[in-house]
Amino acid sequence: MIHDIAIVGAGMAGASLAAAIGARASVVILEGEAAPGYHATGRSAAFWSETYGGPGIQPLTSASGPLLRDYLSPLGSLHVGRTEDAGKADAFQRAFADTAVPLSRVDPATYIPGLRDNWTVGVLEPSCAYIDVAALHAAELARAHATVVTDAALQGATRAGGVWTIETRAGPFRARILIDAAGAWADGVAARAGVRPLGLQPYRRTMAQLRTDPGAPAGLPHVADLSGRFYFKPEPGGRLWLSPHDETPTDPCDAAAEELDVAIAIDRFERVVDWRVAAVERRWAGLRTFAPDRLPVYGFDAHTPGFFWCAGQGGFGIQTAPAGALIAASLLLGTAPDPAVAAIDVARYAPDRF
Ligand SMILES: Cc1cc2nc3c(=O)[nH]c(=O)nc-3n(C[C@H](O)[C@H](O)[C@H](O)COP(=O)(O)OP(=O)(O)OC[C@H]3O[C@@H](n4cnc5c(N)ncnc54)[C@H](O)[C@@H]3O)c2cc1C
Repeated sequence: MIHDIAIVGAGMAGASLAAAIGARASVVILEGEAAPGYHATGRSAAFWSETYGGPGIQPLTSASGPLLRDYLSPLGSLHVGRTEDAGKADAFQRAFADTAVPLSRVDPATYIPGLRDNWTVGVLEPSCAYIDVAALHAAELARAHATVVTDAALQGATRAGGVWTIETRAGPFRARILIDAAGAWADGVAARAGVRPLGLQPYRRTMAQLRTDPGAPAGLPHVADLSGRFYFKPEPGGRLWLSPHDETPTDPCDAAAEELDVAIAIDRFERVVDWRVAAVERRWAGLRTFAPDRLPVYGFDAHTPGFFWCAGQGGFGIQTAPAGALIAASLLLGTAPDPAVAAIDVARYAPDRF
């Protein structure tokens, strides 16, 4: 059987693109692991923030908001700094001044009990929300009219007569279009298909679940450092998820948290609030994979016909997934963009920019 499309990778990128394609093409999703979502998608910090990733990502995040409404719940984000960081707060607000993202200057001590002296600068982003990532990912896979084949790592692909023959651990598959949604492995998958890699780089990001004394108070927002050295967010049961905001360049792998990164995160946290860390209940790490300009890549490869990129989702691949998938689907199928993304300049995400 020849499929119209084979998607490599059943993480959020592959799942949401398959859902956006829907019944308009016959699609097979080839996933290397035993279950979809094992890598970055299953390890995210699970928030939606219109400022996260900067102004080049904001149009995708904002357009995704209404499409994610069934999976979002209120959180809010407070961007904090020391007194000497006032200039960073100004620059941060200026970066989003031309957007509809609501940002206002506040006293952070009003929102964070036990905040240490000198953390006097605060910018509130009330629209920030929790994302139910597992529910979203499952719903996208269910919405896709696709066959999902697990334990099917792509090993090589060749194209002849307009058809790709894809060798996988689960046997060969044939498709007219090959979509690379392989996250940290996207450049490697391209190389195995004879396509020039784009310079996508995975970076390790560490998370720890803490029990603190006192526990995270009700109504605590997501708290992010204006200098990019930590963030933490409340979780059920008074727990916190804390990250040192690390970005360690790493080869594609099954990433694990390093003790040192967890220790750095706690050290930074303890310099912000006077709460005691009672336990590190859980720690994990995942890979955030960026193109050289830190924008995602949606579109057909400039040199190899029939090869389509849906990669480089970095640290925002969940919150941008619906808009990114609609853009990618219209480029792929040659259809007019969905009204939800029609105002977005897609050229800035094209693979031929490299
Ligand atoms: C710690 C952390 C916190 C994050 N927090 C957030 C957040 O709060 N909000 C947000 O929006 N984003 C967040 N992100 C980013 C987000 O998780 C990613 O951008 C997103 O999950 C990327 O999805 P993906 O499908 O591209 O990659 P993945 O989920 O990694 O999926 C790629 C899939 O391709 C498969 N694959 C690889 N090679 C092959 C092969 N040869 N053959 C077949 N299959 C293959 C893999 O097994 C994998 O399942 C975070 C990431 C991390 C690591």
